[in-house]
Amino acid sequence: MTRYMSISTRIITVVTLVFVLLLGIVNYSHYMSVRQFTKKSEIQKSRLTLDSIAPIVSINLYLDMIDPMHDYLMKIVQQNPMILKLEVHDMAGKKYFGYTSPRIHARKLEPLFQSTILHDKMSGNAIGRIDMLYSNEKYEELLDYYGRFTIFLMAIAMILLALLLFWLRSYLSPLKRLVDELKAYDPKKQNFPKEKVENRDEIAVIQNAMVDMFEKIENYTTKLFELNLKLETKVKERTETLEQTNRLLRQEIIERTRTEEALKYANKMLEKLSTKDALTDLYNRRMFEQTLKNYWKMSRREGMPISLLICDIDYFKRINDTYGHQAGDRCLKELADILTGCIKRPMDMVARYGGEEFIYILPDTPLEGALKIAHEIQETLEKRNSNPDTEITFTLSIGVACMIPDEDEKRMDLLRAADLALYEAKKKGRNRIEVHPL
Ligand code: GH3
Ligand code: MG
Ligand code: MG
Repeated sequence: MTRYMSISTRIITVVTLVFVLLLGIVNYSHYMSVRQFTKKSEIQKSRLTLDSIAPIVSINLYLDMIDPMHDYLMKIVQQNPMILKLEVHDMAGKKYFGYTSPRIHARKLEPLFQSTILHDKMSGNAIGRIDMLYSNEKYEELLDYYGRFTIFLMAIAMILLALLLFWLRSYLSPLKRLVDELKAYDPKKQNFPKEKVENRDEIAVIQNAMVDMFEKIENYTTKLFELNLKLETKVKERTETLEQTNRLLRQEIIERTRTEEALKYANKMLEKLSTKDALTDLYNRRMFEQTLKNYWKMSRREGMPISLLICDIDYFKRINDTYGHQAGDRCLKELADILTGCIKRPMDMVARYGGEEFIYILPDTPLEGALKIAHEIQETLEKRNSNPDTEITFTLSIGVACMIPDEDEKRMDLLRAADLALYEAKKKGRNRIEVHPL
């Protein structure tokens, strides 16, 4: 059972109801007017019958001609089957005539009762009365007729309605087909039939409008699809271009980063080269001089002593000559490690001063402290030399000088003093520590 009624069902239902209602109203109103008229005419007829027999019965009753009256009335009731009952009484209630038809009980409706007073023509006095029951058979027949007529009308109506239904079904079948096609329509499949119809009725107009509409939808869908395709292609192209640009940019960034790193490394190397000695990795002479200048200022400000130690390998030329220059280089590196190992404080600094000469700057260090470090260097070197694995042994001469700075110019005096102390050590037989007093 569907939840809604189809348009044809609705139309048929409405038409049926209206038709039946109209038929009922027309039939009923007609029936009512005919009934009223019939009833009235029956009453008149019965009245007329009574009125026509009353004068004769009056005379008979007045003249006491009972038998002729009886005959007369019998004739009347025989001729008029509509009379169901007829009775004549005098005013005292004495019955002079009585007739009852055998059909009295066969009737469906209550018969019409008519009564009239009989008068003496001469005196005008009431001498009796006639009571009559008059059949309303015609009226009943009319009712039967109307019942049959209604059934007949209904049958005709049903036939007409069936025809109407059949006609409506065939008339509305294109609409049903259209609805079915609409239900089955799938925009992806574009499965709506494209044929237009020639008819000029409303359904044809709707179908043709639908065909137009779906054609338009199809066109727009195709256009939309094409546009989408174009857009996709464009987006793809743009994305590819962007990706290409991105790749190039990334490449460039990598190259730049590499160049930057190379540059950083080169700068670092350059800095190292400008401050460090390549062979021993100790600070170079330039760095030593810069540091001495700074420490000098600091020590002068603070009134602190500053000491210098100049270490020179004894007879190094011989080592080179005997073992070769590369062996000499190894010795220089070994000594650089020993000297670095003897540094105690963060401020202390050792640098390669010349070929086989090394120099310490010891800020905030008095002469005793400097000598202590000088002795430690000698002891460490001795230990190295006494190791049986050591291939080439060598000794060191160390010149020591100490000063509490006061003027800038005296810085060179300190350096000269340390140098003089070294010279003194060389002169006194090498492998020793000498101090030049200031
Ligand atoms: P002294 O005891 O008087 O100092 O004698 P010495 O031979 O050590 O002194 P000299 O000044 O006569 O010779 C220094 C030598 O040091 C000369 C050079 O061959 C060597 N020398 C200087 N720099 C280097 C270097 O970087 N590597 C090597 N292997 N030898 C160097
Ligand atoms: Mg030397
Ligand atoms: Mg030397």
